[in-house]
Amino acid sequence: MTIGDFHLHTTASDGVHPPAAVVRMAAERGLRHIAVTDHDTTGGLAEAAEAAKAQGLQLVPGIELSTDLGKADIHLLGFGLDVGAKPLQEFLAWQREGRLGRTRRIVEILAEHDMPLDISRVFEIAGDATVGRPHVAQALVERGYVGSVQEAFDIWLGNGKPADVDRPKLPPAEAIAMVHDHGGLVFIAHPVFIADDYEPALDQLRDWGADGVETFYKNYDEETVERHRQYAVRHGLATSGGSDYHGLGNPDDREIGDIPFPDDEVRRFLAVLEEHGVTTNTAEGGHA
Ligand code: AMP
Ligand code: ZN
Ligand code: FE
Ligand code: FE
Repeated sequence: MTIGDFHLHTTASDGVHPPAAVVRMAAERGLRHIAVTDHDTTGGLAEAAEAAKAQGLQLVPGIELSTDLGKADIHLLGFGLDVGAKPLQEFLAWQREGRLGRTRRIVEILAEHDMPLDISRVFEIAGDATVGRPHVAQALVERGYVGSVQEAFDIWLGNGKPADVDRPKLPPAEAIAMVHDHGGLVFIAHPVFIADDYEPALDQLRDWGADGVETFYKNYDEETVERHRQYAVRHGLATSGGSDYHGLGNPDDREIGDIPFPDDEVRRFLAVLEEHGVTTNTAEGGHA
């Protein structure tokens, strides 16, 4: 267990639990510092901030952005951005629009494979959230086309599978600039998902201004953490840590705070944010 977890999802995107519940669970598990990092939305932050205040937790405003680097899907975590800023919210609205179009296309492809879905059911499952593949997966399970969400990804929705559809994204350099322009810092999320040899991508992202690397992630073993940590030290990058909690209970998932993130490394991460003038526990969560 750790005192900090800076990669959490809520029902504002594809997490299972509402922001207030995620914050409460974090507090119950003994965490002191957290970031909610929903995909393409800051819509959960106001509720999270209120809950964090009530629970006496420090909340760093966060976001997770998907970007394309060639064929690789690069996820970037933005911390401490000014979520009330209009250009940021316009960009996020454009990203969510792209997700709607993509979902329509995914449903078409699934129908071509004899798995018709009622698209309004997919949107109903997503509710107020930024709609994503996990919501389609749930609809597939519900209709009995697959046995589990994981199976839906393994056969149909996962990267490179038949119903994996692209959507418009920013190149990483532009996403990094977008976060910087709004006062935030950019950390490269879960590098191991980029490629087995992820260092060339990290080199490139560092050149484009990324500030740090997510080093203390989910189920990483000591050796993996050390590899990331040494890369960061070698290149003058900061390090962050998070569980990428969605509440789905998939095999490799971890609970909130169940990550290899030493307390002194948590403090170091927070010190980096502070040095950059990042304010935390912002009540104005912006609206999505
Ligand atoms: P989206 O944002 O719609 O592209 O969906 C991305 C989300 O889908 C991730 O945050 C994961 O929760 C989930 N996901 C992506 N790939 C897989 C996979 N291969 N297996 C299980 N879940 C996945
Ligand atoms: Zn997600
Ligand atoms: Fe991610
Ligand atoms: Fe994530």
